[in-house]
Order: sequence, then C-alpha cells, then structure tokens
Amino acid sequence: MRVTFVGSGDAFASGGRFQACLHLAGGHEPLLFDCGATTLAALKRLAIDPGSLGHIALSHLHGDHFAGLPWVILDGQFAKRSKPLVIAGPEGVRDRVERTFELLYPGATEAERPFETSFVEFTAGVPLEFGPAWLTAFAVEHSSGTRPHALRVEYGGRVIAYSGDTEWTDTLPELARGADLFVCECNFFDKQAPGHLDYHTLMEKRSMLEARRIVITHMSEDMLGHLAEIELEPAADGAVIEV
Ligand SMILES: [Zn+2]
Repeated sequence: MRVTFVGSGDAFASGGRFQACLHLAGGHEPLLFDCGATTLAALKRLAIDPGSLGHIALSHLHGDHFAGLPWVILDGQFAKRSKPLVIAGPEGVRDRVERTFELLYPGATEAERPFETSFVEFTAGVPLEFGPAWLTAFAVEHSSGTRPHALRVEYGGRVIAYSGDTEWTDTLPELARGADLFVCECNFFDKQAPGHLDYHTLMEKRSMLEARRIVITHMSEDMLGHLAEIELEPAADGAVIEV
C-alpha cells in the first residue's frame, strides 16, 4: 500500500506547506486521515480526486484537521459525486462539522446532494470497521475541547499509526508498537509547549517507539529550520511511501 503526505505542515502554512493530512491507497478503496482547511487544494494539486474518497477519519476537532470538509462536500455536490462519504471522528464530530459548514455557507446542511454524507463516532480503544480499514483511536494530550485522538489502522495488509496532535504521552509507544509506519507530529524542534511534540523529546523517547518506520509531520517554521541536522525522517508535501 501507499501513503501520500497530502500535507505535512502545521496550521499556519509554515514553509508554504499544506496542513497535515495522509492519503492511504492500495486497499480496496482509499482512506484519508484528517481534512484541514487546506486539504481540498492539496488533494487537487496531487491530482487525487476528492470524489474517490469514501472514508475520512479525523484525529481531532481543530480547524487544521477538519475544517476542509465543507469544501470537500461542496466540491462533491458541484462535481456530481455519487460515492457516499463517511466521516469518522471523536464524540460530537457531526455537530462540529455541520456548525462549521453552516457558518461558512448558510443553508448548506439542508441542501440536496447527489451523495450521502454520514458520520460515525469512534470510542478510544474500541476497534471500528471503517470502510477499507479497521480503525482504532487512542486518546492523546492536546486541547481538550478538540477531543484529541491518535489513529491506528489495519489497511491493505499493513498497520499505519498516526499521532494526530499531541504532547508526549505514554500512549504513543502503545500506538506505535508493531506498526509498519508511524507518522508522528513534531511541531517544534526543542521548544516544549503544551499539546505538541518537539524533536528533542521524540529523540529522547525514540527507543520506546517500536515501529518499523517513523516519519515526522505537522512541522512549524522552527522545526523546518532544523531539517538538515535531524536523524528522524521528515515528511514533505506530496511525498509517497510504499509500505
Ligand atoms: Zn494541528
């Protein structure tokens, strides 16, 4: 299977990058992890048809991880998409997405569309059959109002783990254990800030992360300024990894 880094930046377009988003392909249909405000632009830049995406899993409810959904849905409406769209996320996901959609495009949630959009809520630690994957969410440490989770899937015969946004938590070794690929946020280089990881902390804990391959994403200007001197593999927008 293939993992494409649709975006690898933080919320603020650092380095001109799109917001963190992963596209998994090679299973019986594709799967997207997160859908931030920049995601539709990023998908189209990579010539990935948004109408091919039947399943999108959201790690948490911050705008750089879910606010692109209104445009993905509207784009599907105007492109006469027929494939149903199922969105998985933490408790309250439907309400948060629909309220956002209404603020941006009043009346949008009442509009007729040629495809169905539905929502499923995951519960931490309970595996969920989600289209082409088995999805398990893990509670992590980030702004509590966003209901932050890491995501781990069995997809296309492989295990992919994704930290979402989080500071260090002892959940991360459990999340990464045995994964073929662990995609981990690394917002900062050495600044320890609540809710996010930094490269120094990750290197200190590196031996606890027993994944076959680790790639860091969700990088700020601070982190991007140190790419030439780091030992962990950084993501780049549009980069593709065969797993
Ligand atoms: Zn974020």
